[in-house]
Amino acid sequence: MIDDQKCFEAVRKLRWPEAVTCPHCDSRQVTKRGWDETQHCRLRYHCGGRRRDFDDLANTIFAGHHQPLRVWLLCLYFLGLNLSNRQIARELDLDEDSVHDMATQLREGIVAKQPAVVLSGEVECDEVYVVAGHKGHPEAVKKKGDGDVGDV
Ligand SMILES: [Zn+2]
Repeated sequence: MIDDQKCFEAVRKLRWPEAVTCPHCDSRQVTKRGWDETQHCRLRYHCGGRRRDFDDLANTIFAGHHQPLRVWLLCLYFLGLNLSNRQIARELDLDEDSVHDMATQLREGIVAKQPAVVLSGEVECDEVYVVAGHKGHPEAVKKKGDGDVGDV
């Protein structure tokens, strides 16, 4: 129903709706370098700016995670359907804690938060941003509360 090809296409659309940009320097001078040798649907790129290579999953929450990309995207899809963590866990055959972690990360965006490299020097700004980020996601906070009933 959902194959690797579609998964990687979805990731590319999510993170680069307009054009592929280098996750290291935001350059758009990017050329395709072909497919990954182990994952054949994963595109690799070469950045003209800093001459560093990256791929579809570079700097995303999916990179280096033990869940396959398909599971992440199904999770994202189910979240869009407003399924509860428990329902998603059942659909994906995972435990609720894993789904909770994945859902939290997905709500914060698929591109991993980078340490203050981008906002060079403005560390305070960075902290404010994090706090504001949580305030901007009331539903995520609410969902968190839904999970732990029991303090009556
Ligand atoms: Zn670059």
